[in-house]
Amino acid sequence: EDLKDAVVIVTGSGRGIGRGIAEQFAAQGSKLVITDIDAATAEQTAQEIAKMGVETISMACDVSKYDQAEALANKAVEKWGKIDVLVNNAGITMDGLFLRMKPDQWQKVIDINLTGTYNCAHAAVNHMRKARKGAIVNISSIAAGGNPGQANYSASKAGVLGFTYALGKELAPMGIRVNAVAPGFIKTPMTDKIPEKLREQMIAAIPLKRPGEPDDIAKVILFLASDLSAYVTAQCIHVNGGLAGL
Ligand code: NAD
Repeated sequence: EDLKDAVVIVTGSGRGIGRGIAEQFAAQGSKLVITDIDAATAEQTAQEIAKMGVETISMACDVSKYDQAEALANKAVEKWGKIDVLVNNAGITMDGLFLRMKPDQWQKVIDINLTGTYNCAHAAVNHMRKARKGAIVNISSIAAGGNPGQANYSASKAGVLGFTYALGKELAPMGIRVNAVAPGFIKTPMTDKIPEKLREQMIAAIPLKRPGEPDDIAKVILFLASDLSAYVTAQCIHVNGGLAGL
């Protein structure tokens, strides 16, 4: 109910989990800012979502650039006067064994996954604090527990958790809640890159015996963004079909 007409920004929502999140908010009647580093997929998603009868705008934004994150928050406020929900979903992997991991491979993943989360949160909170209301949901990963071959990604996603816990406590007096979701294995273009054999092994290890879908993540995010979770902040919900690892 409270998500109807809520102004919601979902980063990296041109495809994959972000797109699924945007669709679930649209089904609740929220107003959506669809944004991605890839302007074309953002615009395509926004057009599809507009067909669901909700107001939407699309905008290109590289979350690793603070000025672009600021422009994104400003655009939402120019259009609708407020930001109710920010979902920090944009993220990348650049996997590799540590001994072969190049400095730029480390830095890029940290810049987008961790600094990007800071950038968008900082820009949005500047507006949310005036309303003394808001919800931020950050996307971590089961990899925050440490995946071999993903030292960069694991560090970025563990960083997102620490950031979430600190910010949730710090912003609580302003009426802003900050939580995280840690997905397990979700079927998206990101996991389609994994070699088929390894993918099959990963899916076989999931207690619920199926890979997750973007909607499995999106529904938990709806909960964390809505008043149903009014007394929940500085937490992480694990959405992984029962996998251990974090
Ligand atoms: P995806 O690669 O399918 O989609 C990611 C989107 O983010 C793409 O549209 C991409 O263009 C966009 N993006 C990349 N860099 C960006 C930047 N600098 N600024 C703005 N947008 C950018 O990935 P996905 O599987 O949908 O993943 C979404 C989030 O969920 C990521 O944070 C990812 O780390 C996390 N996650 C995914 C899984 C999984 O199994 N798929 C598991 C755990 C966590």
